[in-house]
This record gives sequence, C-alpha cells and structure tokens, in this order.
Amino acid sequence: MPASYPASWCTIHRDRISRNLELALGLVPNGRRFCAVLKADAYGHGIMQVVPLVQEQGVTTIGITSNAEADAVRKAGFKGTIIRLRAATPLEIETALENHVEEQVASLSTAEQIAALTASGRFTSRLHLSLNAAGMARDGLEISTTKGQDTCRQIIDTAGSRIGGICSHFSSNAPGDLRQSSELFQQQAAWVLANSDLKREQILVHAGSSLTLVSGVDIDTDMYRCGAILYGILKPELGFRPTMDVEARVVSLQTYPGGASVGYDRSSHLDRDRRLACISIGYENGYRRLVQGGGVVAVRDALAPVLGKVSMNAIVADVTDLDQVEVGDTVRVFGESKTATIRPSMVERQFETIMADLYTDWGQRNARVYR
Ligand SMILES: *Cc1c(COP(=O)(O)O)cnc(C)c1O
Repeated sequence: MPASYPASWCTIHRDRISRNLELALGLVPNGRRFCAVLKADAYGHGIMQVVPLVQEQGVTTIGITSNAEADAVRKAGFKGTIIRLRAATPLEIETALENHVEEQVASLSTAEQIAALTASGRFTSRLHLSLNAAGMARDGLEISTTKGQDTCRQIIDTAGSRIGGICSHFSSNAPGDLRQSSELFQQQAAWVLANSDLKREQILVHAGSSLTLVSGVDIDTDMYRCGAILYGILKPELGFRPTMDVEARVVSLQTYPGGASVGYDRSSHLDRDRRLACISIGYENGYRRLVQGGGVVAVRDALAPVLGKVSMNAIVADVTDLDQVEVGDTVRVFGESKTATIRPSMVERQFETIMADLYTDWGQRNARVYR
C-alpha cells in the first residue's frame, strides 16, 4: 500500500500478466511473430512495470500509440522494435526520432517527411504501409480505388526504401468477417508487392489482434499484435485471468429507517430498516455514474448491492445481512476472491462497456499497487 493511504486503488497482478503472456505466446502458430501492445499505459496497468515482464519472455516488438509511451518503453530499458499503431502528426514523428519508433505511412505527405528525414540521416527505422483492407476507415490507405492505388505508388516511389511492413487492422473478428478481411488484405498486399520493388521476404505483412488470435480462424499474418489478451480480458476457459483488482474501503456504517431515500435526487428508497456502508470510491475513480441499480461490490467475501446514485467520491452499499462488516474493511469493486468474485462479464454489464475501457480508466484514476 502506498504511504499516502489512497481511498481507492488498483492492485496489479504482475504474475498473472506474465502467465497470460505465456498462454498467448502458446497460441501463436509456428513461424508467426508476436507484438505486445502496451498502448494506453499498458491498458491502465503501468507501462514501465509491464515492459520488463514482456522482455522476460523474449518479446522483441512492442506496440504503442503516443510518444510518452515510446519514451517509457525505452526508459524501461527495451532495446527491441517499437511500432506505432496509428498514424502520427509530423511533429509527433519528429519528436519520436530518438526513440526509433517504426511509423505507419498511408499518405504522400508522411512519405515525403520520412524521405527528407531519411536523407538527412535522422530517420533510420522501418515504415509500415497501412492499408484500409478490413473496414476500419481509421487511418489506413484505401487502395480499392484508382486514386488510392496512385497514392500508394507515389508513397512507394518516395519512401519505398524504408518500407519494411504492410499492415491492416481488423474491424471485426467474427469468423466470416475475419476470413473475408484477411483475404482482401492479402490480395491488397500482393498488389503492393506486384506494383513495386518490395520483396515479399523482406516485408512483414501483419494484421490481427487478441480477438484474431483466439478466433479459431487461421488467418495469414506474419505477426499478431495483442494487447487485451495480456490482461485476462478473453477466454477464461483457457486459463487467462484478470490482472487488476479495484478496491476501496468502508468509511462509515449507519442504519437508516424504511422509506429513507438514498443518494442524490432521492432516486432510491429503502424498503425497510437497512444498514448501509459508505465506500470510498466514486465517479472520480472510475466507478461510473451511469450505474443506478444492478451494481454490486464484494465485502467480507460476500456480494452487497450498490444503492442510489453514484457520488463523486463515494458509493453506498446495503450490508444489512453482513453483520461482520466494519469501518476500514476493504471493498472490492472488481476482482477475484474465494466466494465473491466480480468478473469481467459482471462489470461490463454493470458499466455498459468493455473491459479495455474500464481497465484504462481505472488504472489512470486510482493509485496502483503492484503484486
Ligand atoms: C489496439 C490495437 C491492437 C491490439 O488490440 P487488442 O484487441 O487489445 O489485442 C492491435 N493493432 C492495432 C492497430 C491496435 O490499435
């Protein structure tokens, strides 16, 4: 526990991240590579803490998005390949030069910038030609049109010598969509190779994330780029385990009479006399305000329902049936325990979103304690 005694905190289970990574590496087909995606501060887990864990298992490629993340990865001592998993602004590319970030290229202006930086000896990394083959329409180049094909040729004429990868990102990992997107991506990559001097054996052709790896569809990709799977979001049946607990404390216990209203706007009322625990976590800490009924927390290894609207720094749970509860008790909002586990599926329903959204939010809004 940090000396400052935080009101709410995330416990990060490093051993589980390592185990999840080991399981994920075991799923990668022979001859394919693996890129550990540590964007969003390693999905809220703390990038500096996660880098050594992936290095330990021989991972040599890390995916990031922001320059701050690239800085952190190098500061943590990583000497391998850093790939940026989105387009970057000219200044962003310029500011990342010393960290040797492999950039994506999907426009002539980026190709021209890279060509100039290469000519002056300042850019020495690889580029990845990013194609919009899989329905994202986020930042990849669309080459199903003649105009897109012309741009693609110009990019290769301008900065072809730096291109070491061709990539895309799947917008859907449902088996049917995945087969179709993967096929289209391979066709487009083949078109690029046929219309340039790029040599297939020198180019990493890559698409596919965690969902692709566990999809059961054997797609053609030289490398899987996986984030979510490291944090136990998917496939508990294969042994993947969530890597973060979110906890706070009981700060008050009071009994209120039947009929009393609970929380802002009197949105909830007690059916009878009830003992309520005030807990030191609120929407400031990522216990989202939209939860109104249906939320649960775990205290003393039992589940207790959350009542009323969420306050900025507090929630209220009904502990009438849990006589043992005391002020100072730890309350779990998310995580495993012997008899009262709060699972990903429960919080996804409760907070109406996906685990990646919750992890990144919780990790930023709470103190982090490492196991
Ligand atoms: C985030 C991201 C990934 C990793 O996705 P997960 O679902 O977390 O495995 C891979 N590729 C790109 C381009 C991404 O943006």
